[in-house]
Amino acid sequence: MSVGMLNLQAQFRQIREEVLAEVTQIFETQSFILGSRGKGLEEKMAALAGVPYGIGVSSGTDALLLAVMALKPKAGDEVVTTPYTFFATASSIVRGGAKPVFVDVDERTFNARADQLESVVTPRTRALMPVHLFGQMVDPAKWTAVAKKHNLLIIEDAAQAVGATFNGVVAGGFGDFGCFSFYPTKNLGGAGDGGMVLARDENLAHDVRINRVHGGKDRYYHDQIGICGRLDELQAAVLLIKFKHLETWNKRRRALAKLYNDGLTGTPAVTPFEEPGAVHLSSIRSARAAS
Ligand SMILES: *Cc1c(COP(=O)(O)O)cnc(C)c1O
Repeated sequence: MSVGMLNLQAQFRQIREEVLAEVTQIFETQSFILGSRGKGLEEKMAALAGVPYGIGVSSGTDALLLAVMALKPKAGDEVVTTPYTFFATASSIVRGGAKPVFVDVDERTFNARADQLESVVTPRTRALMPVHLFGQMVDPAKWTAVAKKHNLLIIEDAAQAVGATFNGVVAGGFGDFGCFSFYPTKNLGGAGDGGMVLARDENLAHDVRINRVHGGKDRYYHDQIGICGRLDELQAAVLLIKFKHLETWNKRRRALAKLYNDGLTGTPAVTPFEEPGAVHLSSIRSARAAS
């Protein structure tokens, strides 16, 4: 028997009229890039995580890349992350000019182990990049303690965890950067590619904001070499509509996961482990596949 992972057609039927009205409106105004909807989404995402700055970007990958670029790493600088994640986590570290260094994962949560971090931190380490895999956060207190002790920044890869919490801390809300993906199959998914960087420091936020438009604050004046990494209005419009349902949909996902977990109790199937303190968002497949 094959059970579908998620049914985006059914989800669309809930929001169809609203989405089509917004899409029509955007075509009427022909305002496609960096407009009011993008700003609105930046505010919602920042408020969700309780941080001051949100910067809408073109994908989760570019969110990670822009965060690493903001470290302005020198050759040989290191970022500690997990080997068990989607490819973009480590590739963004390399593309941003740093070297990924891996720490082992916990065999119950599949998340990187905070208690092993200090064994891989070196004088070249600049940042930690935890991944909140499958909708379950790493323990913010443990990661923050190591970062503080060694004077490191934290870049959260929260691509799979929008709305997840750990002891009340929201994913994307404790690091210097919180990076999100709005790829259509993520918990908050657009109608194409999109992403978000959250930041708490004004200067770091500024760096990401200018680097998403080729490193320039004023058009055609470029202070540094950035990328073309903007969020478009069609994505932002769809995401703003879906954002209103995020909490309900996340709860529903947890309720369904519980059904599977309860039903599979006493069978050889291994169901996802929810760490004490964590509100895990994900479903049964999560225990087996990484994306
Ligand atoms: C999806 C994902 C990304 C990349 O996001 P895109 O929007 O597809 O670029 C990065 N990290 C993790 C953990 C992901 O699941």
